[in-house]
Amino acid sequence: MIELGQIRTAAEKIGGMIHRTPVLTSERLGRIAGCRVHLKAEHLQKTGSFKIRGASFKILQAVEEGAVHAVAASSGNHGQAVARAAAMMGLRATIVVPEDASPAKIAAIKAYGGQVVKCGRTSAERIPEAVRIAHEEGGVFIPPYDDEFIMAGQGTAGLELVEQVPSLDAVFVPVGGGGLLAGVLSAVRQLRPGVRVYGVEPESADDTRRSLAAGERVSIGPSATIADGLRTSIPGELTFPILKSELDGLITVSDSAIRDSMAILFEATKQVVEPSGATALAGLLSENAHGPGKEAVVILSGGNIAPADYARLIR
Ligand SMILES: *Cc1c(COP(=O)(O)O)cnc(C)c1O
Repeated sequence: MIELGQIRTAAEKIGGMIHRTPVLTSERLGRIAGCRVHLKAEHLQKTGSFKIRGASFKILQAVEEGAVHAVAASSGNHGQAVARAAAMMGLRATIVVPEDASPAKIAAIKAYGGQVVKCGRTSAERIPEAVRIAHEEGGVFIPPYDDEFIMAGQGTAGLELVEQVPSLDAVFVPVGGGGLLAGVLSAVRQLRPGVRVYGVEPESADDTRRSLAAGERVSIGPSATIADGLRTSIPGELTFPILKSELDGLITVSDSAIRDSMAILFEATKQVVEPSGATALAGLLSENAHGPGKEAVVILSGGNIAPADYARLIR
């Protein structure tokens, strides 16, 4: 696990750079779920997702070691988070994106002051390019999840939600590479050992479910799930051991259940979330074990989605 002390250090150091996001409740949502539901609103976080937490802590660490340039490989929320966190600390940021990245995503990275480099279509092409740029241009590579500082930074969401909902008995967290889950799980387990923590992933990107069943990291083929932040094909080398030893359960959900959750969030709470951000709620709604009298916290991990895509998905 990530030590509680390290997560607390992250919270102290990044506190001025991020929002302490609110926790929202909805009686209507509670009736649908059959238990009390609290939504940890990371879609209202700076840059629109929790990824600014880990990126800020990792970059801060790099600054203390003398870095002046941050490099990442991501067209999505991680790229925006690294661009924004680097700008806040006065570093240059270079973000390597796929050739076919959407103009909106590229514009968002540039708006945060990041420089965009296009390379290939797959992460297998982008990551070595980012590492090369970092190496040749005196930069530091900022990984999206498989890093102790990133996990500790993401874990600060866990510190907050335990304080915000003292009576919680379960937490539902979406899983891509597992950085958010490993960090939140570490925080919650050490502060509140009796609270159950569940990971939720799309059924077509179920690398974590398969890996847990096999007892070792298993890789899957590419997934086309609408939850684009959760399409990783293998759990992280550092995230997986934490999930393997500590996780209470892993739930998989269909894309159609994710769409339903987006629509329910819109109707019952007026919150706009992206598919990855609605996945943990889909997990809670599919989990029968969580019944009356129970109190669940669901992490809404992000809200970055183009209006046309949102309209199409909640239709
Ligand atoms: C990155 C991301 C996730 C998954 O986080 P991991 O740390 O890779 O498991 C979930 N939701 C959103 C919105 C994301 O951007």
